[in-house]
Amino acid sequence: MKVMKFGGTSVGKPERMHQVSQLITRDTEPKIVVLSALSGTTNSLVEISNSLALGDRSAAKQKIDKLEAHYQGFVNELLLKEATRAKGFAVVSEHFEFLNIILRISFSEALNKDILAQGELLSTKLFSAYLEEQGVDHMLLPALEFMTIDQNEEPQLGSIKIKLSQLLQQNNQKKLFITQGYICRNARGEVDNLKRGGSDYTASLIAAAIHASVCEIWTDIDGMHNNDPRIVDKTNAIEQLSFDEAAELAYFGAKILHPTCIWPAQLENVPVKLLNTMQPDANGTVISKEAGSTGVKAVAAKDGIIAIKIKSSRMLLAYGFLRKVFEVFEKYKTSIDMITTSEVAVSVTIDTDIALKEIVKELEPFGTVDVERDQTIVSIVGNEIAQTEDVLQKLFNSVNEIPVTMVSYGGSTHNISLLVPSSYKTKTLQLLNKGLFGL
Ligand code: ADP
Ligand code: ASP
Ligand code: MG
Repeated sequence: MKVMKFGGTSVGKPERMHQVSQLITRDTEPKIVVLSALSGTTNSLVEISNSLALGDRSAAKQKIDKLEAHYQGFVNELLLKEATRAKGFAVVSEHFEFLNIILRISFSEALNKDILAQGELLSTKLFSAYLEEQGVDHMLLPALEFMTIDQNEEPQLGSIKIKLSQLLQQNNQKKLFITQGYICRNARGEVDNLKRGGSDYTASLIAAAIHASVCEIWTDIDGMHNNDPRIVDKTNAIEQLSFDEAAELAYFGAKILHPTCIWPAQLENVPVKLLNTMQPDANGTVISKEAGSTGVKAVAAKDGIIAIKIKSSRMLLAYGFLRKVFEVFEKYKTSIDMITTSEVAVSVTIDTDIALKEIVKELEPFGTVDVERDQTIVSIVGNEIAQTEDVLQKLFNSVNEIPVTMVSYGGSTHNISLLVPSSYKTKTLQLLNKGLFGL
């Protein structure tokens, strides 16, 4: 059995859905197809939710009506037979009625999650109506019946495995299942989600749970590129990446993959393929145990980073100092991305300011605390790069004119990270494209 996940742009237009239906019926291997919301929908739902959080019901209502009109147009184009078209309109009415009811309820975090879930519920039900119209035998598998996260918002792979295998067992005569990406239930049983871009995570979790033959991530580009194609002009698709390399790239900003979506596939050794819906026969990128080659493969950047430097003469020769510092971050459930130390100072980076004030307050008794906002981590990822000849020299020559704030090297054999002020991100990525890849 294999998993095929289609992102927002792959289902964003009726003709794309037609294409997806062709791609999932090209071979006879049983499959679970994971769909995102139509492109733009989750952004609109976030806006609706934000308007409601601010108490601006009329703005929310306007946005709901605009989105509903979009979906009515979509159904009109997607579904041509009377019965299935009526089904499509009924699906749209049902979900927009729900959004209109929400307008009258006082806003809460649980309601926010309910609003955000509408996109994937709509896309899967409309796609199912289209498959029915095409006479493609399939079954909708509700993600809310098997995809769960615990109190720490971590997916519960063990329980996902059990619930999913029960559902598949009960419907073992079916060969094609369609399910929602992104959405799940939390420890309180409420509707929740796996964070933005989370459909990739859904796909990888399902692939691990069922020991899929492959987890295919279908998107709008022909695989993982060596640099951010939104920022740098000349970039190339990478043929092969190891799980570790892909995980580093995803975590450090390569938007093509959700930041933490690699570990489930890696855990069960399921290869992940990144493929292009618009060019289905292009090679794409294969992510597996094998790295393929050594040396630098790609560069990625993660914005919104805050650097915190704690300077203390008392750190000199004091064991236990770092533990005390880390305990503060642990207390506020804030993970550290980069770290460098000297004898009198330690610098760390975090990617959220949710608990920044409290963290700084608790660090102050240890020494002088400096906070630098608007930083970007630029990660250089590859296999055994640390051991590859000339990499460091080429790297530092390339970024000669950039005021690098921090460097992390040696933590793993496949990552070198630089911290730069965000205003230098574009320049840094362009310089590295030239210096490391000659592009
Ligand atoms: P989907 O909606 O299918 O999940 P995403 O927008 O989340 O698609 O991811 C695909 C996009 O990721 C591409 O269109 C591309 O602009 C962007 N991207 C950023 N970095 C990279 C990279 N290193 N390689 C490929 N794509 C990247
Ligand atoms: N629809 C969700 C988002 O836009 C999840 C996804 O597309 O992966 O973030
Ligand atoms: Mg995505």
